[in-house]
Amino acid sequence: MSDAAVPVTPLASTSHPLQRAGAWAVAVLAGRASPHEVTSAELDAVASRVVADVSTAALAAKDTVAYDWWKVLLALYPNSKATHSKRSRDRAVLESGISEMFVPDISGVPAWPCTFCGARATVVWAKLSLPLFDTNKVLNTLPPGVPGWPVCRGCRVAAWALPYGAWVTAGSATVLSCEEDAAEREFAARNVLHAQRVMQLGFPRARRPGARAELIAARALGAIRPGLPAAATLWSFKNDNKEPWLRVTRTRRAVPLFLATVEGNADLRSAWSRLERALTRRDKNG
Ligand SMILES: [Zn+2]
Repeated sequence: MSDAAVPVTPLASTSHPLQRAGAWAVAVLAGRASPHEVTSAELDAVASRVVADVSTAALAAKDTVAYDWWKVLLALYPNSKATHSKRSRDRAVLESGISEMFVPDISGVPAWPCTFCGARATVVWAKLSLPLFDTNKVLNTLPPGVPGWPVCRGCRVAAWALPYGAWVTAGSATVLSCEEDAAEREFAARNVLHAQRVMQLGFPRARRPGARAELIAARALGAIRPGLPAAATLWSFKNDNKEPWLRVTRTRRAVPLFLATVEGNADLRSAWSRLERALTRRDKNG
């Protein structure tokens, strides 16, 4: 235990792809250029918004559009307070339970370094609250006497802001890691808009034809300053509590250069979109 690691800012972005994607989501929701600029008051506001959205989804009736966001939460946090089949159906009870997950770390008491960012943490989380953790086949993943993983408040909020910054479907989520922050922010920003549409309209009406994680990633790479090479990785995963999977797709560093060259030349742009159309295959759902 140590009190030495005091965070300079309330939110860090680490090299863990899920924490990082969540931190970008918080930054976008707070209207900041980067996670490190997010203030404590803005982190509070994002946490309140997450609690409200999660509670709305957890209380939604099955035949409503609001239920679609609950499916997203189920794919990420299948045993959590928000998704468990025995969750409270009383909004006040549910909200207070969800809010408790994001309580500030207490000062003046023994603390641990956060599992993700190393900042001071006085809350420990078990697999129930963390995305992409073990299925219910694994009853306990911790040594005897260890109550959970220490997670600081910033990383706890990031863990639940993740679905805003990820490309989500009703059963999976995809995040982008890139050597250039601009692409990660752009990917998160596009997904935050998509998340808002899903919450308001449900999946069938929120999704634009042809939209998918790879396309959003390609558009996000366009945010990199022209001429800058940057490798990117897409992490797609699902945790349905039965057979979780993770798919990793990497692009070469030259891809943003290629996309910028195409974008900057009218003939190439036109040829590229003709090629896209020629290669596009649609299933019966379009
Ligand atoms: Zn942390």
